[in-house]
Amino acid sequence: MKLLIVGGVAGGASAAARSRRLSEDAEIVLFERGPDVSFANCGLPYYVGGEIAERTKLLVTTPEMLRSRFKLDVRTRSSVESIDRTAKKVCVRDLASGREYEEAYDKLILATGAAPFRPSIPGIDLPGVFTLRNLQDTDRIKEQVNRGVKQVVLLGGGFISLELAENFVRLGITTTVVEKNDQILTPFDREMTTPVVEALLGKGVTLLLGQSAEALEQTAEGLVVCLNSGQRLPAQLVIFGIGVRPENNLAVSAKLEVGPRGGIRVNDHLQTSDPDIYAVGDAIEVKDVVSGEPTQVPLAGPANRQGRIAADNVFGRSVTYRGTQGTAIVGFFDRTAAMTGASEKVLRRADLPFRKVYVHPTHHAGYYPGAEPMTLKVLFHPETGKLLGAQAVGGAGVDKRIDVLAVAIQAGMTVFDLEEMELAYAPQYGSAKDPINMAGFVAGGLLRGEHPQVDVEAVLAAPAAGRPFLLDVRTAQEFASGHIPEAVNIPVDDLRSRLGELPRDRKIAAYCQVGQRGYLATRILQQAGFSAANIGGGYKTYKLLHPSA
Ligand code: FAD
Repeated sequence: MKLLIVGGVAGGASAAARSRRLSEDAEIVLFERGPDVSFANCGLPYYVGGEIAERTKLLVTTPEMLRSRFKLDVRTRSSVESIDRTAKKVCVRDLASGREYEEAYDKLILATGAAPFRPSIPGIDLPGVFTLRNLQDTDRIKEQVNRGVKQVVLLGGGFISLELAENFVRLGITTTVVEKNDQILTPFDREMTTPVVEALLGKGVTLLLGQSAEALEQTAEGLVVCLNSGQRLPAQLVIFGIGVRPENNLAVSAKLEVGPRGGIRVNDHLQTSDPDIYAVGDAIEVKDVVSGEPTQVPLAGPANRQGRIAADNVFGRSVTYRGTQGTAIVGFFDRTAAMTGASEKVLRRADLPFRKVYVHPTHHAGYYPGAEPMTLKVLFHPETGKLLGAQAVGGAGVDKRIDVLAVAIQAGMTVFDLEEMELAYAPQYGSAKDPINMAGFVAGGLLRGEHPQVDVEAVLAAPAAGRPFLLDVRTAQEFASGHIPEAVNIPVDDLRSRLGELPRDRKIAAYCQVGQRGYLATRILQQAGFSAANIGGGYKTYKLLHPSA
């Protein structure tokens, strides 16, 4: 068996190492266009900021190591230029010498990744304008920083830009993030990004939403980023992080099938439309675990696992890839946002039925020092309660909850399973009723009809005539420091004695700060004969949706 692998980082290196473990005899050649293999892309922003001090730490392994330990024929600075599927060979260019040669294969794995998108706007090639994908980009960015950067403009408000923003703030560089959409971190639902926006602003980052770069200009002082709004941002360093495009040139010119967004089409054995050619990682189209629809998810975990699975299939083990659920996490200083499965906006776009709950617990027992608040949003099927997606934002403990929910989604669990989940607890780690259980209780109560809930957006969007009576059951002080417009305040402890102040001919939408007192109020009202529902997630959810209210 002669196996050729194109691309030597996450997917390619995983496929190569796994292949060797499965076959001592196979001839395995790994081609990589760059000088490095298997480097830690995910660590690059932290090397820029100095958090990772030594460059060598980013080299997860070296060509020499892959040669000696795995008996791999590693060829760096080698670009695969084309595939001849009929003759089963590839054409390779040795970038050092310029020499071109052919290499035959029995099986071929494409792990070519995705390239950062560079818009074709005036000035895009000016010195000081970068994208970040590999160590060479990182070296160039660091060089620029070392020349003395006072202002940086990051185009795009995605994961990489946020990570870079943290590192530039740490370096004392004035940082501006420009995002074309009306929110940062677009895979998330907008309200879940509110705490991250607050953190960015709190650290002095300027955030410009709904704007994009139209041109870049060179001046005597450095660069100017010209925005569509007419605003001109001076900077000495500009980095585009506005998304990636699958590197599909080889596949396209070899007439392999690709999807509408350029991802190489594969079956669940990760075989392309040519059964002797497999493809993995950022270059491919994957099946969305929740919707079953084709999608593209450029993440390291899927790429690594796919590399392993492709190797398994090449060497005769019939292993299938389950699909991708987009479990992702990002940090900005002490703020963490994480998600798994479908977002609300994806479900809406696909016109799939769902319900949602928000809970705002602390990450461990509130009485134990250091408890940090988090918001957890869980989306589920309105009849079966099957979990569809989850997002969390906060500090410590966000990662753990999203990982638990990622497993639950993969296992096809429901919100009723969340109620029953037995999770590790001591006061410094969690709560006897973990945030996961709490989300399960709220969602389970909703589906069983024990806990009628209404979404605040639905209440506010209702025509004035049919709008529920808004009842704020928090204390007078809480009410005075901010409330939903038109709400009337009757604290929950006074509610039983003040029922006469409430209308019997209108539905009552009760709310408190996070949902707990609102739930109790709803129970009191229902048993007193009122038609009442609790506003899910309370005032805190309202504030996530309306941060400037
Ligand atoms: P890549 O890792 O991009 O590797 C593809 C390789 O193929 C490249 O080195 C390229 O040079 C080579 N190649 C392409 N075409 C050819 C050719 N014709 N001939 C030879 N070689 C070729 N993901 C996460 O899940 N979490 C994170 O925190 C995270 N952080 C990131 C931070 C940064 C700065 C970046 C850039 C990415 C980050 N990612 C993160 C994404 C993650 O790195 C990718 O999803 C993952 O590396 C994809 O693996 P891959 O093997 O498909 O592609």
